[in-house]
This record gives sequence, structure tokens and C-alpha cells, in this order.
Amino acid sequence: MQPKVSKFGGTSVADADMIRKVKAIVDADADRRIVVPSAPGKRSKEDQKVTDLLYLCHEHARQKLPFDEVFTLIAQRYKDIAAGLGVDPGLNRHLNTVQESIARIASAGGGSDYAASRGEFLNGLIIAEFLEAEFIDAAELIFFDERGRLDEDKTYREIGERLKGVKRAVVPGFYGSLPDGETPGAIKTFSRGGSDITGAVLARGVGASLYENWTDVSGLLMADPRVVDNPKTIAELTYRELRELAYMGATVLHDEAIFPVRHAGIPVNIRNTNRPEDAGTMIVPGNGSEKHTGTITGIAGRKDFTVIAIEKAMMNAQIGFGRRVLSVLEDHGVSFEHLPSGIDTMSLVVADGQIDGKLDEVLEGLRVEVHPDSLEATPQMALIATVGRGMTHIPGMAAKLFGALSQADVNIRMIDQGSSELNIIVGVHAEDFETAMRAIYKVFVG
Ligand code: ASP
Repeated sequence: MQPKVSKFGGTSVADADMIRKVKAIVDADADRRIVVPSAPGKRSKEDQKVTDLLYLCHEHARQKLPFDEVFTLIAQRYKDIAAGLGVDPGLNRHLNTVQESIARIASAGGGSDYAASRGEFLNGLIIAEFLEAEFIDAAELIFFDERGRLDEDKTYREIGERLKGVKRAVVPGFYGSLPDGETPGAIKTFSRGGSDITGAVLARGVGASLYENWTDVSGLLMADPRVVDNPKTIAELTYRELRELAYMGATVLHDEAIFPVRHAGIPVNIRNTNRPEDAGTMIVPGNGSEKHTGTITGIAGRKDFTVIAIEKAMMNAQIGFGRRVLSVLEDHGVSFEHLPSGIDTMSLVVADGQIDGKLDEVLEGLRVEVHPDSLEATPQMALIATVGRGMTHIPGMAAKLFGALSQADVNIRMIDQGSSELNIIVGVHAEDFETAMRAIYKVFVG
């Protein structure tokens, strides 16, 4: 049987009680042979994440300030966990090394990656002993090249060799090592939340049958629970749908974690460590043969967009019109999100973060470059994506969506259906965002 890779997020490994739940989960399935822990996360809303404290230690050390106090907090977290589980992987010795190395690296002008990575490293040592598993340092499995990109060849080769036939291994998430250079084996981390990526890379490297991502929610919800009351959990969705929903703000998995497993066609299961009885959300490759059920998969949205509408008669007949419009954005270093167009109209949807402080220059640039008949910028727009593979080829899906919005008195300012009916995006005024989300949810889900 191919192994399953089981990654546990920060809240799932925040203290001894949680790690006991992890053990029960791992023990319940013999295929769960590769376990990837995060650093201890928050135990309550007010609590601190160990990774944040480690960054703080590095920052103090860099500024040549003492960091013993912060480090004591970190050390205590691990001592409590180890004592609570009745294990000791030489913790004091490791803690001393970590503290000394943080000081040494910072005073030599090194970056914060080493410090940050120790959260996973120390937790991994403890969890490995508690699970009676082999501890394999991620620095020996995950490699970056000189430019800081994952060295795929070396990484997958090493993972394949080291993890082949392993009975049960714990590999800490979030980091790997840089090529031997001036600082041999220097540590580099992925971006924040990057243990998800470690799990995905390991899953691909061992050809896992499943990549389990254990967290504190029972999967991805059909809508943002801060907007829609009690939204249902998505039982199954394709990588493509996930990408569309994630782009629009639904978060459940680190963006970069999707690519390794998607490439290898390995399904991902989002599960809840506190409710292992819940099936969670399954993210599957999707082969185009899905049933067209007429239901949607999920709704997600984001505020803070500006739409620049350009109108010019006979735009469609002008060769190079689109290129000239986009060159204005390029000249000002602005990227765009969507580009819905009509016969004589073209709209540029731009995130406010991109255009803030540059809008007037961009509008002026467009006037000079394409002499539009009319040019209008609408700030404070929100985009809402309604996503669903089950919507394709079902007549009336769009009508249902627009009908629901009109009934709720929401003025639709923009529509972008993309090239498939998998995703219909509507632009509404930011004020109407919540009303629109609820109306769409209600008409499709109830
Ligand atoms: N501990 C790291 C962070 O807080 C990585 C992770 O948890 O995935 O970003």
C-alpha cells in the first residue's frame, strides 16, 4: 500500500493534549506512515504562536538586545509538551543549541530562517519520540537552489530514497536546506504557513495515496461563515475549483501546496483533529467526467477592487487596442486581475493595493494611449465568484444567480464568466457584498 502523508497544523500540535489526539489519529490507520508537524500554534485566541516568538528572538538578537525572556517562553512550551507526553528527546541540549545558534547567526548578519524553522524542528523531535517514529530532519530531504527555489530533482530523489519502506517517520514542516556554500547546510524556510508545502512535497516524493491536512476545521466551507450563517462543508471539490475559491479569499491550504500534489494527481483531504469522525473536504484531480448536478461548490469574494471601464466605438476593429491598454498598466507597474470586455468596452479590474496612489496617472496614460470615448473608474468594488463544476452545461445557472441578486436589490456592476461556466464572477459595490453573498448562497444552497 502507498503511504498517506499526514500533516498537522499548529493548533493540532499546540500542546500535549492535542498531540495525544494526533497519536490516536495516526494509530488508527497503518497507512499514515509519514507525519509532518507544524510548530506549536495558539492554544487560545490570546496565545502566541511559537514561530512568531522565534522570529522575535531573531529580531532581538539582530538588534543586539537580550532575548532570554522570549526564549524562556518558547523553552517552557516545549518542556510542558514533553513532560505532558512523558518523553524527552534530549530537549535541554537541543534548546541550548538553538538559543546559541540564534545569537550566533544573528550577530553574523544571517537571516531569520534558522530561528523560525526551530519551531517545527523541536516539535518534530518530541512528536517522533511520542509516536515511536523515526525522526528525519527536513534539512536532509528538502533542498533549495542558490536562488531559493525548491530543487525538485534533488528533493524528490532524496525523499524517494530515504522514505522508501520507512515504517513511520516524522518530518518537521516549513523548512529545508540551501546548497552547500559558505554556510554549509544553511536552513531556508518556505513562506509563512509553509508546512503545508512540506507535506505536499513529501506526498509527491513518496507517491502517497493521499495527502491529509489536519487542522482545526472540518474542511472548506461553501461560504465565509462571517457572512453566511452556518454554511455547509464542501464534501468534494477539484483542484481547479479550489484554485478559483482560494484566489477569491477562501483559505484552507497554502497556495503553493496545491501544485506538487496536483501535478502528481494525489488527492488532499482536509480534516479536523478535534473531530476525526468528520470526513472533511476532499480535493480531487477531477477528470472532466463529474456529474453536472446543477449545484454549486462554493462562493467566495473579495473587496477592495477598482474597475476602470474604457469605452471606444469600433474598439473591436482596432488592431493592438488591448495591447496598448495593457502597456499603460505595465508602464506603471500595475497588474490586473480580470479583463472582461464587450464589443466597444473593456474593463480593467485592479486590486486597490496595486493602483493606490497611481490611479490618476494610469487614467491619464490611457487617455493619451487609446483616446477612449469614455473612461470611468469605479472604486470600492467587490468581486464574488460562484464556483462549481456541477454548473457547467446546465441551462439557467446564470439566470438563477442574476435573478437572486436582482431580488435582493443588488446592482450588478460587472460580470465575468471566464471561458467556462465553472466560475461566474460578479462585481458589486462593496456595500452590497454581504447581501449579495447571502442571496447567492440562499438560491443555490438554501
Ligand atoms: N510554523 C510556520 C508558520 O507559523 C509554518 C506553518 O505552521 O505551516 O508560519
